[in-house]
Amino acid sequence: MAVIVQKYGGSSLADADKIRNVANRVIRTQDSGNQVVVVVSAMGDTTDELLGLAHNISEKPDAREMDVLLSTGELVSCTLMAMALRGMGRKAISLSGAQAGIRTDTSYGRAKIAGIDPRRILAELERGNVVIVAGFQGVTEDMDVTTLGRGGSDTTAVAIAAGLGAERCEVYTDVDGIYTADPRLVPHARKLEEVGFEEMLELASYGAKMNPRSIEIGMYYDVPILVASSFTDRPGTLIHRGADMNANVGEIRNRVRGIATDTNVAKITMLGVKDRPGIAASLFEPLAEADVSVDVIVQNAGEDGTTDMTFTVERADLDRALEVVETVAKELGSRGMVSAGNLAKVSIVGTGMQDSPGYAARMFRALADKSINIDMITTSEIRITCLVDEDRVADASRALHDAFQLEQPDS
Ligand code: ASP
Ligand code: MG
Repeated sequence: MAVIVQKYGGSSLADADKIRNVANRVIRTQDSGNQVVVVVSAMGDTTDELLGLAHNISEKPDAREMDVLLSTGELVSCTLMAMALRGMGRKAISLSGAQAGIRTDTSYGRAKIAGIDPRRILAELERGNVVIVAGFQGVTEDMDVTTLGRGGSDTTAVAIAAGLGAERCEVYTDVDGIYTADPRLVPHARKLEEVGFEEMLELASYGAKMNPRSIEIGMYYDVPILVASSFTDRPGTLIHRGADMNANVGEIRNRVRGIATDTNVAKITMLGVKDRPGIAASLFEPLAEADVSVDVIVQNAGEDGTTDMTFTVERADLDRALEVVETVAKELGSRGMVSAGNLAKVSIVGTGMQDSPGYAARMFRALADKSINIDMITTSEIRITCLVDEDRVADASRALHDAFQLEQPDS
């Protein structure tokens, strides 16, 4: 019998009817001859509500207590799911992350899974149970509860699928797959049948909704991940290794797989510092210490022996980053700093791009033809990202979708 891991997101579990709908889907999967492990998120907006409660009580809630609090959201949905399945005559058991053998490091709020001991899950499957695991949580060596960061249930599900050697991990949400672009920005965006892990990692890090860590685990352990809707029976998108390879066979298809957008971008420039060794280190070390993660970095050397240093951060980190930069700018005798909070990233992603020239040129031309100004550019082997004004991000997405003919089906 094959083991299938299914993950259901908060919107798929938002009320009793939706929980019963999910239970029916689980039953169908079991009836097709599979052993089923279900990983659940917290119902609806529960996690946000719990965060709100904590912040009403304390300005800076204790990290350990916060994780225990947040973990309860997933416990609620996992027990209710077990009750629903039992009510439909199935054997089912709920397990907390700890009971399911999910061990993590000690970084509260963004713990990493250190290992999975699958014995309890396997024993319950052996007894004929549907096993329902609370997502987003684990336990340290000292048995303290941790959470894995927002959207962490995806990670739980893929990690369990890897740990059990499951046939596949299915991730159910309220959209029916991964699209060539955000359908809210590009109405004629097309749903992809398949996408490679590397491509999905770029899409996930740059806007499409999947926890990037879950994709990394899927890639490393070669677990195919199906992303589909819990509200329809439409096919969904399969993220798997084969899709990376298909992309590289001859001229088969357009090598841009999709367009990712991200509006959570702020930019800081430190102006006119001396162009000498150690400047970058003396700026980015204190930023790292302040736990600000820096993304795109551009350094421009002027004629007069000074340099401007520009970089982007998440908007939530802007104030913290500015505090650090202010101090450093003074120490380095900089001419000052400027910042902007209204930028967005738009990226083209596709594994085939790396060995064919001309993609960057086509991208820049498409943006130029719509008079969209490019603020910064950054690339990886399979991605080209332009920073543009936030209010041009929809225009940019549509222009690129057209330029790379993404409305046409893969062949
Ligand atoms: N409930 C958590 C969140 O909202 C984890 C998850 O949904 O995956 O971030
Ligand atoms: Mg959620």
